[in-house]
Amino acid sequence: MKILLVEDDEMIGESIQIALESENLSVDWVKDGMQAEAALATRPYDAMLLDLGLPYRDGVDILRKLRAEGNAMPVLVLTARDTVAEKVHGLRSGADDYLVKPFDLDELIARLEALMRRVRGGFERVYRNGDVMVHIDTREVQLAGRQVMLSAREWEILEALVLRPGAILSREQLEKRLYGWSGEVESNAIEVYIHGLRKKLGQQIVINVRGLGYMVGKT
Ligand code: CA
Repeated sequence: MKILLVEDDEMIGESIQIALESENLSVDWVKDGMQAEAALATRPYDAMLLDLGLPYRDGVDILRKLRAEGNAMPVLVLTARDTVAEKVHGLRSGADDYLVKPFDLDELIARLEALMRRVRGGFERVYRNGDVMVHIDTREVQLAGRQVMLSAREWEILEALVLRPGAILSREQLEKRLYGWSGEVESNAIEVYIHGLRKKLGQQIVINVRGLGYMVGKT
């Protein structure tokens, strides 16, 4: 599961990131409204944690735009009490839930998981292709019924691809997925992980679309 965390406060952001990662949720943390919109345009997320008071673009504006575009991603708003009173109208127009700061991290996780469950409606997301079966929510991967162990980064790439079968993801999109918005990227990193995936799951699992990027087949 991939979460977009939008929070300009370093301490709050960092503690949320650590809490989410300890629940095996993968997090992209951005610190202002413009970065949030750029991240949302780059790739799909399973949910967003959104602070309202942000540099460059207000959280309510981000939310309104997201819903105006027909994006139904679960959004949990994190904000100060006085902001909630001011922005209640904006919240009604798009937030699934909100938490008032300061909040308990366990409660944050519980509410977030409840939101994601509600959206999934209890259906398990599975990608099948030939002998390969990928259980997206539990991160289990099988080849001909046998469990296959992937590294964390191989999983990140595979998950990005199987969430959108038939869609080509560029190398840059995959790099962002692996390294977030910061960090050094080795020039052939993506090729190395895709090589690893092919070795474990068969050559045909990832299709290289010359000059454009990578995809997995529709099933
Ligand atoms: Ca803030």
